[in-house]
Amino acid sequence: MNVYDSDRIKNLLQKKGYSETLDLKTADLVILNTCHIREKAAEKVYSDIGRINKIKNNFDNNYKLVVSGCVAQAEGEEIKKRAPSVDFIVGPQSYHKLPQMIEEQNNFINDDFLPEEKFTNLVFESSNRVTEYVSIQEGCDKFCSFCVVPYTRGSEFSRPIKDIMNEVKKYLNKGAKEIILLGQNVNAYHGNNSIGKQVDLSYLINSLSDYENLERIRYMTSHPINMSDSLIDTHAKNPKLMPFLHLPIQSGSDKILEGMNRKHNVKKYIEIIDKLKSVCPKIALSSDFIVGFPGETNNDFDQTMQLIEKIKFSIAYSFMYSPRPGTPASKLPQIDLLTKKARLSALQSLLKEQQINYNKSFVNQSIKVLFDKEGRHNNQYIGRSIFNQSVFTNSKNNIIGTILNAKIVRSTDFALEGLV
Ligand code: SAH
Ligand code: SF4
Repeated sequence: MNVYDSDRIKNLLQKKGYSETLDLKTADLVILNTCHIREKAAEKVYSDIGRINKIKNNFDNNYKLVVSGCVAQAEGEEIKKRAPSVDFIVGPQSYHKLPQMIEEQNNFINDDFLPEEKFTNLVFESSNRVTEYVSIQEGCDKFCSFCVVPYTRGSEFSRPIKDIMNEVKKYLNKGAKEIILLGQNVNAYHGNNSIGKQVDLSYLINSLSDYENLERIRYMTSHPINMSDSLIDTHAKNPKLMPFLHLPIQSGSDKILEGMNRKHNVKKYIEIIDKLKSVCPKIALSSDFIVGFPGETNNDFDQTMQLIEKIKFSIAYSFMYSPRPGTPASKLPQIDLLTKKARLSALQSLLKEQQINYNKSFVNQSIKVLFDKEGRHNNQYIGRSIFNQSVFTNSKNNIIGTILNAKIVRSTDFALEGLV
């Protein structure tokens, strides 16, 4: 979502006459679009500011520094104190105001929650990528006890169907072939259709698939409690919806899930997976895991490992629990770092083994790949399989933007090699 937001900020400023440079020394304005989800991401902002200051100090007052995104939202006042060189601080639901703040030279913090006003004022220019992101839903009302999102992105907001359709059409006209629908709780989407009726994510996916030149649709990130039957049914019936689902569970222990305020247990998660597999047997599954949540015993951790063994993920993301200011879990007694590190390492080894085995099972098979970029080597192209694996191949022709059947000849730890 930060990639999407960064593109929007870029488009807003391009409209004001700015153009993009990646060179800090020739810039007039530097924007750090930030993430607050874990401490490491948030702290990175201050080291980046220090690095930029070394350049900024050599310039007169015309070199401006902006901190946008969720760190700006959560720590606006602290940034002002810790890093007075920052000129503008703007949160993720008010960044449409940035051009005005710069124009009026208002050195202030804007952390209002204005998602509706924001989307009405944004500029949507194609990034000329084969795969384009489109934010359809933002914010969260679920308040998992470890998570800052409800505080930084605000409450759940869904964009109207018409606005999303128009934005997607723009990208398709510029050559996009795949759309990834984004939201912190994307499957909690509940936007209005053209007659003002509230509709769900499956309605949106089915409407989008009427666009003939749209080849592929994906969505992320989903929450288990919003995995509705209509969405599962869309996986069964809509061939443009890719057979891949990122569905975070966080832990395999019901006790920990309750402490996390996840509102679902392991049984419910497995039921969803079983339902999905009954209608879409080959669907590839991905998830997020947190290890070392307060109160997690060896036994709780073992249950997470057992769940992973049972489900078998094609890929998954895992993190050490990071206490976040203002969240309920940060006030609980914490697990020591060594235990967290050991658990993360064991869990990641298991996930890596599963990913390797999953990828190996494709060797000697053919699979449809949408190629979206050049690789590092001459004539090399990289794309995504229908199951979201990275696939590389060689071709004398430029195959970017095309879907080809690739015969898989080799699998590496994280990718597949195919012949087209
Ligand atoms: N809305 C999604 C996840 C959004 S945050 C969901 O509910 O599943 C992305 C991931 O970051 C989460 O799934 C979680 O695994 C991780 N995460 C969030 N807060 C964290 C924290 N305090 N410490 C460690 N990982 C965290
Ligand atoms: Fe955070 Fe996701 Fe929980 Fe919302 S549902 S609080 S975004 S982890």
